[in-house]
Amino acid sequence: MKQKHNLIKAGILTASLLLCGTGSIAVETMRVHAAEIAESSADSSEITYLYTVEDLLTMADNPSGNYVLMRDIDMTGVNWIPFTFSGILDGNGHALLNLKVTAVGEETADTYDGNMKVYDTSLSGLFSILRDATVSNLTLLGLDVSIETDKPCFIGGITGLLENSSITDCTINGTLSLMAHDRMFGVGGIIGYGHGLIENTSADVTLICIDTDAATRDEQFLGGACAAGYPDINHCTVQIAGYDSDHGYVHNGGLIGMYMFYPAGKTYYGSMTHNKVTGRITFFEDNTNRRAYCKDFVGEIVSWDFLNGSNTSDFVRDERFEYDKNLLPHTCAEPTYTDVVTEPGCDSFGYTLHTCNGCGYESYDCYTLKQHKITDWTTVKEATIEEHGLEHGECELCDYTEDRETPLLPPPAETLQPSASASLSVDALSEEVQAKTGSKLPLLPILGISAILLFGLVIVVIKHKGRQ
Ligand SMILES: [Zn+2]
Ligand SMILES: [Zn+2]
Repeated sequence: MKQKHNLIKAGILTASLLLCGTGSIAVETMRVHAAEIAESSADSSEITYLYTVEDLLTMADNPSGNYVLMRDIDMTGVNWIPFTFSGILDGNGHALLNLKVTAVGEETADTYDGNMKVYDTSLSGLFSILRDATVSNLTLLGLDVSIETDKPCFIGGITGLLENSSITDCTINGTLSLMAHDRMFGVGGIIGYGHGLIENTSADVTLICIDTDAATRDEQFLGGACAAGYPDINHCTVQIAGYDSDHGYVHNGGLIGMYMFYPAGKTYYGSMTHNKVTGRITFFEDNTNRRAYCKDFVGEIVSWDFLNGSNTSDFVRDERFEYDKNLLPHTCAEPTYTDVVTEPGCDSFGYTLHTCNGCGYESYDCYTLKQHKITDWTTVKEATIEEHGLEHGECELCDYTEDRETPLLPPPAETLQPSASASLSVDALSEEVQAKTGSKLPLLPILGISAILLFGLVIVVIKHKGRQ
């Protein structure tokens, strides 16, 4: 435990070095990074520690690796392409902020509808597929998954497809939106489709699923934890704001849109216990052959053989009957917003709250990393040309302290660089000369006298040459 604490402190040190913008950034980051890996490799040489966006991006090169997230990472602006992951990811209590996903993974997979028809399906989320994988202790804050596709498709916060994998002790906060029209598609807060274990995980999610084509009758799924499949879901907390616009068959559930055991078979025995659901699903089902499944826990139950108890809900089933306008969380035509930025604290992320001036609709984004408040740094050791200096800081808000290295002093300049002097003003040049010579003589007269002398010399030379 102590080792873990030290690792985290070292991580913060590196982060603050990065913020300082010193010349020694690259070297320092590498040094601290290497030290941490060396220190931890005693536990398991197989573990890869993730500190940066670049570290996260390299996971795709070794998708069966064993990973531990070492700090919160802001994913703003990162082009994240989801992939099939079959390793171990321990979020270690850390968060990925502002992750935006607009692509599906390269690998597609079979999904099944309630009549056991098979569809070749695109998948998206943090991962597109989790296969024999474990994801734990990870927070996704300000997640934004937005997919528009012509194929069958499932999207979920952690993964599009869960295949014999587990998701435990995770937190998902954000918005997932799918626009599709090909027969079979859905949105889930934690996973899109599949089977495995989802435990001790919470999702506070806005889910939007829009059928972009009224011509075909689709099988459409939406669920706070999972859109469709037969995962075990235990001890989870779901806060859902769902918007499902469908010209076909909807399957909406606070926990799961449809629970069925294809392709496992009806002898499979699942479990869904000790979950808490709050929120509302607003939907329409534009279909004369209406079923309009929408319930607090499970929308449609195809297979009844699962342990189902100790679940609680505060849920609103909100069915609409106008089919020409897609359902969305915010509907003002040309909204203007009042933005309020909340700065991060020692133990809290910052964020921006947007409030619509027309209707009062609120949304949050632009999360910022936790930050201690250290304004005064005391010098412990002065930097020299050969050795880094050291500064000590104390947070004004908590008892956190931090030591940071200061950069090496630059070697003394021997001569004025011509390129530098060219851009200097005469005054600056004058100061430079004063500093070098210690003389207080003003530069302009010196230059003037030099010019006159040079001019005189040139005249003398010309006259001399004229006489020859
Ligand atoms: Zn509004
Ligand atoms: Zn603090």
